[in-house]
Amino acid sequence: MKKLKNKNVLSTLLLIYICGIFFSLGMTNPPELLHCNQGQDNFVARNPILWIGSSNKHQVALTFDDGPDPIYTPQILDILAKYNIKATFMVIGNKAKKHPELIKRIIDEGHELGNHTISHPEAPKLTPEELEKQVSDNNALLQNMTGKKLHFFRPPYGYFDVAFFMTCRQHGINVVLWSIVPRDWEKSDASIITKRVLDQIEPGSIVLLHDGGGDRSQTVAALPGILDGLQKRNLKAVTLSELLLK
Ligand SMILES: [Zn+2]
Repeated sequence: MKKLKNKNVLSTLLLIYICGIFFSLGMTNPPELLHCNQGQDNFVARNPILWIGSSNKHQVALTFDDGPDPIYTPQILDILAKYNIKATFMVIGNKAKKHPELIKRIIDEGHELGNHTISHPEAPKLTPEELEKQVSDNNALLQNMTGKKLHFFRPPYGYFDVAFFMTCRQHGINVVLWSIVPRDWEKSDASIITKRVLDQIEPGSIVLLHDGGGDRSQTVAALPGILDGLQKRNLKAVTLSELLLK
C-alpha cells in the first residue's frame, strides 16, 4: 500500500511537472500521460513525453541505459538471446565510439538503440547550443553506425526542460522516460531488483535498467528472474518502437 501511494505521488508530481512544461510552451491542453486505452493511433502524437505504453497489449519494454559496456552489455545480450527477448539500449555516444562491435551486435540481434547524449552531461549546466550538439551529434553518430533512424531520446538523470523537448522535436525523436525504476544503480542484491520490477510490472510498463556506468553485475543477475516473471504473467518484453509506435 505504501508503495502504491509512493507510486501515485510520484506519478502526480511528474504529471504536474510535465503539465508545467506544456503550459510554458503555450499548449493549453496538457498531454494525457496515463494509460492509453484507446488504441495506438496517434498515441505518440497525443503523448509527446512518453513514460508508459498502452495497456491494451500484453507488452512491456526493458530499457538499458549508459552503455555500451564491454563487460556487462554482452552478458545482457546473451541472456536476452536465450529468452528470445528484444530490448532498447539507450546509448552514450562516447562509449559507442569505443565499442562499435557492441553497437553492431545490439543491432544484429534485433534490439533497438536510443539516444542518451554524447557524454551524459547534466543538462541544466549546458547552453542551448551545447544541448543541441549533445542530441544531434549522438543522433548522427548512431545513425551513421547503424544506418537506422533513431526514434527515442532519454535525457540523462531524467532531467528535461522546454529546450530539451524542443531540440528533440526538431530532430524528430521522442523523449521517453520510464514507469518502473528498480534503482539498480544502488548495487542492490539481484533478488531485490527483480522483486522491485515484478511488484510493479503491468501492461505498458517501461523499465529503467543499466548496462553501463558502474558495476552492473546485479542487474545482469536479476535479468533471468525478471524475464521468468514476465513469462509467468504472460507479458512480452519488446522494443520501445514495438511498444509505443506500432
Ligand atoms: Zn544515464
